[in-house]
Amino acid sequence: MSDLKCHTLVIGAGPGGYVAAIRAGQLGLDTIIVERQYWGGTCLNVGCIPSKALIHVADEYDKVQGFAKKSPLGISLQSPTLDLKTSMAWKDGIVAQLTGGVSGLLKKADVRKVLGTAQFVDGKTVEVDGEGGPHIIRAENIIIATGSVSAQLPHIPFGGDVISSSQALALTELPKRLSIIGAGYIGMELGMAFAKLGAKVTIIEMADSILPSFDAQLSAPVGQRLKELGVDLHLGARALGFDAKTKALTVEASGKSIKLPSDKVLVTIGRRPALDALGLESLLVDMEGEFIKIDTRCRTSMSGIYAIGDVTGNPMLAHRAMAQGEMVAEILAGEKRAWDKTVIPAVCFTDPEIVTVGLSEDEAIAAGYGVKVESFPFLANGRAKTMEAEGGFVRIIARAEDHLVLGVQAAGQGVSELSSYFAMMCEMGARLEDIAGTIHAHPTLGEAVQETALKALGKALHI
Ligand code: FAD
Repeated sequence: MSDLKCHTLVIGAGPGGYVAAIRAGQLGLDTIIVERQYWGGTCLNVGCIPSKALIHVADEYDKVQGFAKKSPLGISLQSPTLDLKTSMAWKDGIVAQLTGGVSGLLKKADVRKVLGTAQFVDGKTVEVDGEGGPHIIRAENIIIATGSVSAQLPHIPFGGDVISSSQALALTELPKRLSIIGAGYIGMELGMAFAKLGAKVTIIEMADSILPSFDAQLSAPVGQRLKELGVDLHLGARALGFDAKTKALTVEASGKSIKLPSDKVLVTIGRRPALDALGLESLLVDMEGEFIKIDTRCRTSMSGIYAIGDVTGNPMLAHRAMAQGEMVAEILAGEKRAWDKTVIPAVCFTDPEIVTVGLSEDEAIAAGYGVKVESFPFLANGRAKTMEAEGGFVRIIARAEDHLVLGVQAAGQGVSELSSYFAMMCEMGARLEDIAGTIHAHPTLGEAVQETALKALGKALHI
């Protein structure tokens, strides 16, 4: 058994943990990072990156399928085919490049890496079972960044043809009939991708709308596209059980029980914190529901123990985890930092994409603001027309009294790339006049944002 000591110990090498470790190393803190499975965590290996790679494959395939039918662009070709094995190998190549990059960056920052599962012995000591171990690591500060795992349904547990998003992202054969339980962003992103790849997709959702955490106006264009893709949707429905022999998923919808033939059942009902192996119960760490409770410096209730990323609750997003990781490392290096972010952008990479930043209209009203709300359709945006991307819109929520931007939302093709612009507006305290008065390059989708501000000020030009 080896005995290691360090100033900062990071447990988990997802976007939260690896960013914390890199920054800690860069700031000269003697740092060790422990990872049980894969450098880059969920995000790089089985989350953000592979899902976006698969979505790209699906979009390209869908595009060429369109050319094989009839395209107004004058492009034609004959029956394109898909080799999912090759697509997955391409995706794996991207993952390998990025995870290799993370390892390299940790090395460059002089961070020591330990591969194995960490378990608390006490508030300053962790035992790691793994490569070259077991190891005992004693640290002045410990950052818990163990992330999250797919939640499963007790009556339809993972195994066999019942799969999680991680397994869906590794399929090398297209399931003919894919049933998806849960119409949150992960289920919707993967569902649309598999439908474009050629699977017959059915989505089962307990709530009475898809993407329940987005408002109806934002999710409507996605609902429309689902219909075009031939995806069957059962809302207000419950999956009751899966018979592996007959490959039938029993669903209760509108008071009736129906059986859906399903080669695979993908369960995307949410994610829960990955705390199972950590032995956290032996410490006096306060919890908030199933998540670790933190303050504005990501401190837990135990001195010297910090928590970041998905283990600390919603929104479970990679960029939130990274921002927390960077902040905690700087705090440990003696900098005066606290969580001061106005907004955390959220992007749903469906077709069309959805972005929400800051407050929605309802949230702004609930917070006591008088609001000015305006929207502008991509139908009236030149660039959107040239991209065949006329569906969707931009919406700005501003404070009525001084036009301060409180929130921006958009649905449309390619709007994910506008999300940082929206976030910057909110962080910098932009007003409608700032957006309206900024020259936006022509022709770009961003002009729709400027037009939204102009419209809110009663000065719209292109509508
Ligand atoms: P994770 O990335 O989960 O990393 C935690 C790491 O800790 C893991 O590598 C795990 O092996 C390790 N670990 C756990 N327990 C131990 C232990 N005891 N000892 C040692 N190591 C341990 N977010 C976005 O922002 N944008 C997206 O587009 C997006 N798409 C997604 C798509 C899918 C299909 C999924 C599943 C998730 C997606 N997410 C997306 C969410 C995103 O992946 C997470 O929010 C992010 O990975 C959280 O980072 P983290 O550092 O908290 O944890």
